[in-house]
Amino acid sequence: MRKLFVLVMLCIAGSAFSQKTILHCGKLVDVKTGKVLTEMSILVEGNRITDVQKGYIAGAGSDKVFNLKSGTVMPGWIDSHVHMEHETNPGRYMETFTFNPADYAFQSVRFAERTLMIGFTTVRDLGGTGVNISLRNAINKGTIPGPRVYTAGKSIATTGGHADPTNGFRNGLATDPGPEEGVVNGVDDCRQAVRQRYKDGSDLIKITASGGVLSVAKSGENPQFTEEEIKTIVETAKDYGFQVAAHCHGAEAMKRAVRAGVNSIEHGTYMDEEIMKLMKERGTWYVPTLTAGHAVGDSAKKPGYYPDLVTPKALAIGPKIQGTFAKAYKAGVKIAFGTDAGVYAHGKNWLEFVFMTEGGMPLMEAIQAATVSASTLLGVSHIIGSIEKGKLADIVAVEGDPFTDVQKMGKVNFVMKDGKVYKN
Ligand SMILES: [Zn+2]
Repeated sequence: MRKLFVLVMLCIAGSAFSQKTILHCGKLVDVKTGKVLTEMSILVEGNRITDVQKGYIAGAGSDKVFNLKSGTVMPGWIDSHVHMEHETNPGRYMETFTFNPADYAFQSVRFAERTLMIGFTTVRDLGGTGVNISLRNAINKGTIPGPRVYTAGKSIATTGGHADPTNGFRNGLATDPGPEEGVVNGVDDCRQAVRQRYKDGSDLIKITASGGVLSVAKSGENPQFTEEEIKTIVETAKDYGFQVAAHCHGAEAMKRAVRAGVNSIEHGTYMDEEIMKLMKERGTWYVPTLTAGHAVGDSAKKPGYYPDLVTPKALAIGPKIQGTFAKAYKAGVKIAFGTDAGVYAHGKNWLEFVFMTEGGMPLMEAIQAATVSASTLLGVSHIIGSIEKGKLADIVAVEGDPFTDVQKMGKVNFVMKDGKVYKN
């Protein structure tokens, strides 16, 4: 009798758990094969995709069915280069002096929600004050809505380098920050900085291997680490399961970073053929950030938008990235989608798809760069990046057919992350 009771209870529990969400997809992008399938159903239970079937499967009982028959459904997008804590504005440089961590935190909540609602279900945050780690934790706990965040915490630079947090300050304010703040000189500092990020709870390492556009410093491209320093960072990072992303505009810095074994080159503005060849040999990823290139070039034309040292760098480097991307794509360098959101207004990340297609990459490959490729770069392709049985249910849909009109990538009307619908 007791056995029968247990069996009945198990059956009831079983049917309660098998409540499904079914998505009827007019078009479904299979990023693994690069094909668009028509009239498909995706079955979701809990936070997982449990099946993908041909035709429109009817739901039973309490199953929830979403009608996405007039749209194009694809895996949730991944932006491999964002800064969730801040957003460009003409007063941005003052924020360094006026913002407390809570100010960054509150605004990052808005940026995170905006990012998720336009279809980016995962981001790789490549540097902030450390608030980005708390942001990730709050999203993971379900306290606030946002994309899954993999964060570098604070970037690592050398003294006066692109991510030195006191760059451009007057004497007295420009102190001598160390590995904890993200400034290293020599291999011992490099090891300590990586270990500090492990202690802080970072997911990966970001270094600024060359000068950059928006730092108040003269060069946007000079090499700022020795090869030995980068090697030490890469080796130490391996001990902790971290990958290393290297911000690089200049060619010499890029060569050092690629030879030292970083996982990705960010921006890559002055990438030449020799570097492209080296990256292909080493399997190094390229994250182009075309949207940022266009945005800084445009903002630099507004008088007073950037400090005097920054404007000429933004005018020179910004527009150049698009041409580099076109060459790197032709050369066959592995490309993962990334935009540098924060350098431009959060929520416009989808423009990268437009710029990528303008650079000669078919939209299907741009979508692959933002899904299966970006998940491979992150080392999480076993859980996200494609719509397959067993994967986490990160799914987005755009209106109509983006393959005939790329602007449709900006018209996301359905967002599911981790099996939960955020937009419909
Ligand atoms: Zn960046």
